[in-house]
Amino acid sequence: MIDSKRRHALQAAAAAALVLHRPVWAAADPDVIVLGAGLAGLNAALQLEAFGLRVRVLEASQRIGGRLHTLDAVAGRPEAGGNQIGLAYARTVDTAKRLGVELLPMGRSPLFKDERLVYFIDGRRMSSGEWAASPANPFPPALRPMPPDRALGRLLGGNPLKSISGWRDPANFIYDVPVLDELRARGLSPAALALLEVNNSYGPTLADTSLLNLHYVNANFMEIMKFRGPTLSVKGGNQRLPEAMAAALKGELRKGSRVTEIDSKDSGVSVRCADGSQHRARFVVCALPLPALRTVRMQPGLPDRHAQAVSQLAYGRVTQLHLEVLEPFWESEGLSPFLWSNGPLERIFPNDARGDGQAQSLTVWINGAGTARWDALSDAQATQLAIDELVKVYPKARGAVRMAARVAWHREPLAGGTWANWLPGQISRYARFVDVPHGRVHFAGEHTAHTLRGMEGAMESGERAAAEIMGRL
Ligand SMILES: Cc1cc2nc3c(=O)[nH]c(=O)nc-3n(C[C@H](O)[C@H](O)[C@H](O)COP(=O)(O)OP(=O)(O)OC[C@H]3O[C@@H](n4cnc5c(N)ncnc54)[C@H](O)[C@@H]3O)c2cc1C
Repeated sequence: MIDSKRRHALQAAAAAALVLHRPVWAAADPDVIVLGAGLAGLNAALQLEAFGLRVRVLEASQRIGGRLHTLDAVAGRPEAGGNQIGLAYARTVDTAKRLGVELLPMGRSPLFKDERLVYFIDGRRMSSGEWAASPANPFPPALRPMPPDRALGRLLGGNPLKSISGWRDPANFIYDVPVLDELRARGLSPAALALLEVNNSYGPTLADTSLLNLHYVNANFMEIMKFRGPTLSVKGGNQRLPEAMAAALKGELRKGSRVTEIDSKDSGVSVRCADGSQHRARFVVCALPLPALRTVRMQPGLPDRHAQAVSQLAYGRVTQLHLEVLEPFWESEGLSPFLWSNGPLERIFPNDARGDGQAQSLTVWINGAGTARWDALSDAQATQLAIDELVKVYPKARGAVRMAARVAWHREPLAGGTWANWLPGQISRYARFVDVPHGRVHFAGEHTAHTLRGMEGAMESGERAAAEIMGRL
């Protein structure tokens, strides 16, 4: 038995040692702070909690889900963000099932049939058959009956990537060049190149689109197609999935907490938010899109290559105009509102969730360079332009639609774009650096996925980041 004098001395020494060596985190602090309540951050948080760790999620927005965004206030609840869930999305599908979130096959609307796609090229409306036979169609015979954005994938032919993760293999970095060079070498005419540039989802221009990234996109598509059956969506809107994931957390999720600083030390990590709050933990999972991460001060700074990736990786530009349908203006002419054009509207997708041919709203979808014209307009001017352009294709459209929402993903500060759109040279330069842990900070988010893209890529990245932390304990 130790006497009380000696016990006091020991206690004082222990207290002094605690002051000297106290970890940055304290008993009430979580083990891990997750930044961002998108699919990546939420999946990381759920995996870490299942492992027995205490987790706190910090989300800047008052809304859960990030780039999954269901427009609940618009008729038919169209998706502004992630839309289709492939059958190959094992983690996404499994998580939905586990949380009782119902997935529905996406109704193949009669409005969406390829033969009903309306073309509006150089100011001339054509049926699908007319476009295929038109002298203005500059594509080889096999590609004439399809929209040019779909032709782009076909034009590239056989995929040199032997697996879905092959895009990260240095042996394939020879393809990390502008697709424009490849298409020119294949003898495509300037007219064909101009049409391929419209509605290209993987770069603002063909010169800014990486051939390797397109091979990755095609490999992703082939992987998804291995599973026969319709793609899925979440009953009531895709945002219901991240909301259910958030509700399943045991720990705290703080909305309205925009992270501004991450300070990582050997002993722990401290995170500061714009509201002045400070949070401490043993580890951080940073699941922020890179444009959002650009505004966060990191101490110590990231190593050069990782820092360059954060500042330079390109993200897709997409503007959507969501138009509520007051009258189905296309019906009297026997048309579909499903449109492909090289005019300001670019594409229109009808939202016919029930698959009964009754679109409740239409999504005008403008990609890449075409978004600049819309960015320069006020809401009133954008509405005017949209209606004027719609009437050029469908004369009965005036008074038959109402502008319900306008979304410009590249102007959303918490996203900064639709998805990582690696420019030529960026995959070889950055892909193996964006997910490398920095001290006690681990990185997730769709841009750090290794295999499938989109929602499943986000889920995969969260799982990987969580596993990295578990491996350190
Ligand atoms: C228009 C569009 C269509 C798409 N279509 C499909 C599709 O059909 N199929 C498919 O699989 N995928 C699709 N995707 C991609 C898919 O939606 C994304 O890959 C996925 O949702 C990304 O999840 P994430 O967790 O990586 O990022 P996010 O969902 O962006 O989550 C990041 C979170 O971090 C938060 N945040 C940002 N900054 C801060 C900060 N400083 N502090 C705290 N929090 C912050 C954000 O608010 C956000 O909630 C689409 C995306 C878009 C935009």
